[in-house]
Amino acid sequence: MSAVNALRLPPLPSVRDLVRLYKLRAIKQLSQNFLLDERITDKIVKCAGNIRNQYICEVGPGPGSITRSILKRQPKKLIVVEKDPRFLPTLELLQEASSPHTDFIIEIGDIRSYNFVVGFEKVYKHDWLELPPPIHLIGNLPFNVSTNLIIRWLSSISEKKSAWLYGRTPLTLTFQKEVGERIIASDSDKQRCRLSVMCQLWCDVEYKFTIPGKAFVPKPDVDVAVVTFVPKRYPFVNLPFKLVEKVLRNIFNMRQKYALRGGETLFPEKLREQLGTQLFVLADVDYETRPFQITNEEFSRLCYAYDTLCKEYPEIVNFDFRSTKCTDDVL
Ligand code: SAM
Repeated sequence: MSAVNALRLPPLPSVRDLVRLYKLRAIKQLSQNFLLDERITDKIVKCAGNIRNQYICEVGPGPGSITRSILKRQPKKLIVVEKDPRFLPTLELLQEASSPHTDFIIEIGDIRSYNFVVGFEKVYKHDWLELPPPIHLIGNLPFNVSTNLIIRWLSSISEKKSAWLYGRTPLTLTFQKEVGERIIASDSDKQRCRLSVMCQLWCDVEYKFTIPGKAFVPKPDVDVAVVTFVPKRYPFVNLPFKLVEKVLRNIFNMRQKYALRGGETLFPEKLREQLGTQLFVLADVDYETRPFQITNEEFSRLCYAYDTLCKEYPEIVNFDFRSTKCTDDVL
């Protein structure tokens, strides 16, 4: 019998099992929406490319539907990180069934505190300019978690640490459809926002397909986007993540106004007018453009211009317009 034929996974729990085991009504408040359609979970995993013999981390496996689709492709190692311990028994069944083929590790805990360097310690570290390493992160997480997480991971990508210590580790993640559309929005697309630019400065992003809300149990009010991220060989910027994030946050803070208005908020009141204009002149960007019309190259130049001004005027470095006003909304 071939290795492929020998893989026998236990059946997915039915909707009724899920209701009974995990009390779906309660789960709804935690934004736990499950995919029980194997064709869709196969399609998600297909977006990750050929993962056979690779090292995979699945974030938020829940009862394990995407996990099954991953296991069918026989990765060398699969680490699942799940916050909710109620899924442990179901995941353990999968672990047992896949043991001859895949080193299946279950981590019960928050992905934000998971140490990828321990999970992937056996992987040879690829140079950043080489092809991506044989590692892939896959996850269908609650929407609020996935947006927060991608920002956190972009920061790690910019520093080439954590899962990116091994090279340009790609990701396949789900988002609320509108967020997926924003992530890939190019200049002149009205949906373009701070998140779009943050993602595109460091990664090649692709909107793969839409999963209709009705495919989930319980059904969310929105459709879902599957988006892939491959870190760029040559990111648009090579500056501290926090500096870039600050420049974008301020410029997008007044998205309906000329970019100059938001740009000026990078500076304390007494230097605002002078340095606001200087920022755009130094970067060679038209300050009468709207934030969403600024290209990735232009944003990169604005970040470098701001960095230059910080060196010239050290008193602006710690100035934070937010401390008096606005929220920290990435969208
Ligand atoms: N992947 C499964 C599917 O597609 O059917 C479950 C999806 S459900 C939307 C999200 C899962 O992520 C839940 O099982 C939830 O407990 C888990 N989760 C939420 N926040 C998490 C976190 N910070 N770390 C790890 N898992 C998390």
